[in-house]
Formats: sequence, structure tokens, C-alpha cells
Amino acid sequence: MNIDKGIVYRSTGSWYVVKLENGDFIESRIKGKFRIKNLKTTNPIAVGDKVGIHIQADGKGLIEEIFPRTNYMIRKSVNLSKEAHIIGSNIHVCILVATLNNPYTSTGFIDRFSVTSQAYDIPLIIVFNKVDLYDDKDKKVLSHYISIYENAGFQCLMTSAVNGEGVGGLKKILSNKVVLFSGHSGSGKSSLINAMDPKFELKVGGLSEAHSKGKHTTTFAEMFDLDENIQLIDTPGIKGFGLVDFKKEELAKFFPEMFSISDQCRFNNCVHLNEPGCAVIEAVKNEQIAKFRYESYQSMYNDDQEETFRTVNY
Ligand code: GDP
Ligand code: ZN
Repeated sequence: MNIDKGIVYRSTGSWYVVKLENGDFIESRIKGKFRIKNLKTTNPIAVGDKVGIHIQADGKGLIEEIFPRTNYMIRKSVNLSKEAHIIGSNIHVCILVATLNNPYTSTGFIDRFSVTSQAYDIPLIIVFNKVDLYDDKDKKVLSHYISIYENAGFQCLMTSAVNGEGVGGLKKILSNKVVLFSGHSGSGKSSLINAMDPKFELKVGGLSEAHSKGKHTTTFAEMFDLDENIQLIDTPGIKGFGLVDFKKEELAKFFPEMFSISDQCRFNNCVHLNEPGCAVIEAVKNEQIAKFRYESYQSMYNDDQEETFRTVNY
């Protein structure tokens, strides 16, 4: 049997669009019931998966095998089955498009996202978009945030999809990579994609348009080929990830600026909440660690464990 290799670009749950190495797109189905060992998910195959397909007489493909994933990003399933939904796999970098306002992106949201991407071993770049709208005061606030996030080890960029500022730089960084592209609806994801690749005509403000046509708005991710060999996974309608595979005692690992000084805490099992001799609490007092970052840490730590930290069932 002849097996062709390809990458999953789109999935509707029962059909998958696979791009073959020769560039052809083939509609494919899964052969039988297909489960990956130890991974209980609502979608056994996700966008970004590398698969082997058998092309049948009618030209459609049958997915025969899935090659090991280097990583993946998941979110909670929309149903209550406790299963996870894989958003994308084999990702080189995660982009979080953030805006100071229009819409407001909270640092809490950024911090949760950064924890999730680190937990899944995917580097994060925070892209602050709509800088054309910022006045001097906004710019000051932004550079304050940027210095804090850069200090924590995350790359930050400023862009404007309207005047093109920073778009070339973003494109260069993303070239030859598989990129998971996220952010609040309205933050300018579609506009940035269009700005990076003018050939591309992704609907701006697409959500309301889909509504007016009475279409069911999709929450499935989709991969697009952009200039510079960028393979971009768009995540429309996916509001958050928030499901991680570690114990909450390990949370500080994913706040790099806290983790790097935690060896100076008096107790080696310090979780930096109210222990005496805690170097992290001291650093927050001295403003070496941003208070809002520490507050994000506290808030995540105190979350209902079921909701945020889950080590079973997927
Ligand atoms: P998405 O929901 O994240 O895909 O956001 P869209 O790309 O649809 O953009 C939402 C709105 O913000 C649209 O009205 C865009 O024209 C506008 N927008 C996007 N990027 C920018 C930007 O850099 N500057 C300004 N001023 N507006 C932007
Ligand atoms: Zn401590």
C-alpha cells in the first residue's frame, strides 16, 4: 500500500484536510477508531499533525498513521467529559496578540497564557498590536509591561497592522516556523495575518460576518501558509487554554523571574505565599518582581485545582 506523508491543515471533527509533500490538499478521513496511547482527547488528530495517508480510488485520503508529536497545545473540552481538545501540534512558537485597550487584554490573561505555553514547552512571543492608537501615556504603560515581560524571559514586539510598524520584524521571526496565533477576538489577528501576507484575504472582524450569515461559528483551528514559509495556526473563537499538566506546587517554575530566585527561600518547598524567609515575597516588596506578576501567580495558585491543574484524563 502506498502511503503519502502530509500535514493536517484543517479539521471539522470528521473530515481532515491534509497537505501532502507535493503541495496537494486532500480531504481525508480517519481509518476506524483511532486513539493515541495515553492521550484521551475529543479529537484524536489535530491541526499540525504529521500523518501518513493512503489515497483511495475516489481521490480521498484515509489517515493510516500519525507520526509522534514534538508538542501540542490543548484546551478544556467544551463538553463535560473531562477530555481535552488538542488545538494544534508540532508548534515552534506561540504568538499572543495583546492590546492595551480595544479590546483590553489583562496581564492575568497574558500570564495564564504564558504559563500554559511554557507547560507545553512552546516558546511565547507577546505581540502588542495597535500601537498606532497609543498616545504617549499608553506608550509609557506599554514599555513598562514590555520591560517586565522581557525581564521574565519573553520576547515582546510592538506592531500595527494599520501602518505596518513591526510587521516586517514579526514576519522575519516567524519565517520557516509553525506558529500558533492567539489573542482575544478583536485584537487584530486577522489584520496582522493580512499585513504579513497581502495575498491573504482573511476576513477582518470575521466573527460578526459569520453571525450575520447565520453560520455556526467554528472553534476549530486552521493552518495557513503565509509568505516566508510561515505555517500559521489560527485559533478563532478559542478563548483560553487554561489546562495544564503539573501540580500547583510547581507553578512558580513557569514564572521565570520567581523561579530563578526561589533557591534563596528559607524553605526548599516554599510556594511563596506566606512562608517566612521567602525570597520571592521579598523581591516583590523591593519591586524586583512586578506586583501584578506575583498577583497572577497567587490567583492561579488559588484557583480551583480541578479547573486549572489537571494531571489525569488526557
Ligand atoms: P481578530 O478578531 O483578532 O482577527 O481582529 P481583526 O483583525 O478582525 O481586527 C479587529 C478590529 O481591529 C478591526 O476593525 C481592525 O481593522 C482593527 N485593527 C486590527 N489591527 C489594528 C491595528 O494595528 N491598529 C488599528 N488602529 N486597528 C487595528
Ligand atoms: Zn519562597
